[in-house]
Amino acid sequence: MARVYNFSAGPAMLPEAVLQKAQSEMLDWHDSGMSIMEMSHRGKQFMSVYEQAESALRRLMNIPENYKVLFLQGGASSQFAMIPMNLLRGKTSAAYINTGAWSKKAIAEAKRYATVHIAASTEDNKFCSAPTADQIDLPAESAYLHYTPNETIGGVEFSYVPDSGDIPLVADLSSTILSRPIDVSKFGLIYAGAQKNIGPAGLTVVIVRDDLIGQTLDGTPTMFDYKTHADNGSMYNTPPTYGLYLAGRVFEWLEQLGGLSAMAEINERKANKLYAAIDGSDFYSNPVAKDCRSWMNIPFTLANAELDGLFLEQANAAGLVTLKGHRSVGGMRASIYNAMPEAGVDALISLMAEFEQKHA
Ligand SMILES: *Cc1c(COP(=O)(O)O)cnc(C)c1O
Repeated sequence: MARVYNFSAGPAMLPEAVLQKAQSEMLDWHDSGMSIMEMSHRGKQFMSVYEQAESALRRLMNIPENYKVLFLQGGASSQFAMIPMNLLRGKTSAAYINTGAWSKKAIAEAKRYATVHIAASTEDNKFCSAPTADQIDLPAESAYLHYTPNETIGGVEFSYVPDSGDIPLVADLSSTILSRPIDVSKFGLIYAGAQKNIGPAGLTVVIVRDDLIGQTLDGTPTMFDYKTHADNGSMYNTPPTYGLYLAGRVFEWLEQLGGLSAMAEINERKANKLYAAIDGSDFYSNPVAKDCRSWMNIPFTLANAELDGLFLEQANAAGLVTLKGHRSVGGMRASIYNAMPEAGVDALISLMAEFEQKHA
C-alpha cells in the first residue's frame, strides 16, 4: 500500500526520508554488524549517536550553554509531576495558565505537591483563545509559571512568550517544539514528549536551566530528580536508545531543510492555507480566535455533524487518515506537524472543497 497522509495528533507522521534511512541502517548500523537497538548504550558507537543528537538539537534550538538537555522516558505526563518535585525549591506555590485539556492535566498533578495559583484561564471562553499578556496574574511568591504554548486538543497556540520576570517560565512544548524558532533563554524549563514533532513515542526531551537543578522535594525518587540525569548525561539507566537514534535523524533532516526558520515558513504556509479554506467556506468552521490559532493542530467542524462519518470515509479512501476530532471537541482535527508534507495539506483542502460541493 502507498503511504498515506496521517493527520494523527500523536504518535504522528515521521519524515519519510528518516524512515528510509532507519530502514537502510536497521540490520547493520555503520558496519557494526548490529542494529542500533542491540548496542550497549555506553559503547562508543551508541555514544556517538547520542552526542550527535544532543548537539544537533542544541544547534537547531540555539540552546545556551547553561541549559542541560535531558533525554528521559515517561512522556510529557511524567513531567507534570517532575516539574513541581524539582522546581518548587522550598517554595509552596506555583502558577499555571489554564488554556485547555493539557494545562488541566498539568494543574491536577501539580496540586498533589503545591498550592496552584491559576494565573489566567480561558475556560470561560471555552478554551477558544489564549490569555493576553495583561490578563496573566503572577504572584511574586510563585516558584514558577507553567503554560502550554500549544494546546493539542483545542488547537490554541500562544502567539507570544509570557514575561514572567525573574520567576522561571516552564513550557509544555510537546506539540509545537521545533515548529519554529524560540528563544530558549526566556524559559527555565521546556519539555516535550517526542511523538509529535521529534520522533517515536517513548522519548521525552527536557531542556532545563542548570541553576534550577538539584533542589528536589524530600522523597523524590532518584529517577524523578533532574540532577540524576544531568549528572549522568541521561545515562543513569538505559535511555530509549532507538528513539534517540531516530530523533537524531529527525534533527539531521531539519538541519538539511534549513533549520527552524525554514521549517517555520513551511508550517505557517501549510496552516494558513488550511485556515483560509475553512474560513472561506460556510460549510467548515474553526472556533479559535484568529490570533491564537495553532500551526500544528487544526480542529474543524462540518456544518452538519451527521456528515462526519461520510467525510471520514471519503478521506480514508483518498489516503487522508486519522482526521477524526478529539472526543471532547468532535468534528475533525488535522494535525499537521513538521513531517506532514505540504502536499498532504493540499490534498486535504481539495477533498474538503469536493465534499462541500457535493454535500453542502
Ligand atoms: C501529547 C501531549 C502530552 C502527553 O504526552 P505523553 O508523552 O503522552 O505523556 C502532554 N502535553 C501536550 C501539550 C501534548 O500534546
